Amino acid sequence: MSGAPGVPADAGEFAPGLERILRRMRSPSDAMIAVGPGWYRLLVELDARLESLDPGYRIIRPVDERYGVVSYEVESVIGITGTLDDVVTAFELKSATVCERCGGPGQLLSHGHGGWLKTICPDCARGTGYRPEPAR
Ligand SMILES: [Zn+2]
Repeated sequence: MSGAPGVPADAGEFAPGLERILRRMRSPSDAMIAVGPGWYRLLVELDARLESLDPGYRIIRPVDERYGVVSYEVESVIGITGTLDDVVTAFELKSATVCERCGGPGQLLSHGHGGWLKTICPDCARGTGYRPEPAR
């Protein structure tokens, strides 16, 4: 069974959960999950948590990565967007400790001085040029 539109090809066991997330997109053209497979579990957990607060909540832009952490923007349909935002913020912080590629313990690394940020583990970082920010 190959997935619904927008479900990443490598979704594996998380495909049903990611499909639920995609169905929440306010605009069908935003139905995209553009993060590495290491974060799929985190996204499914986040969706479950938000759903428990507001079962009809919606996502207002594609799910992607910004500054090395997950970017997930939501609106409540019952007037608790602020509460949902707090939950999302906690997961954004959590994503800075989870390797976006493999789901192992990761850390925020940068590519070159002041360059791109990415949360990855030492194994996945090998050979990519990503390294810890120099100590200040
Ligand atoms: Zn990794």
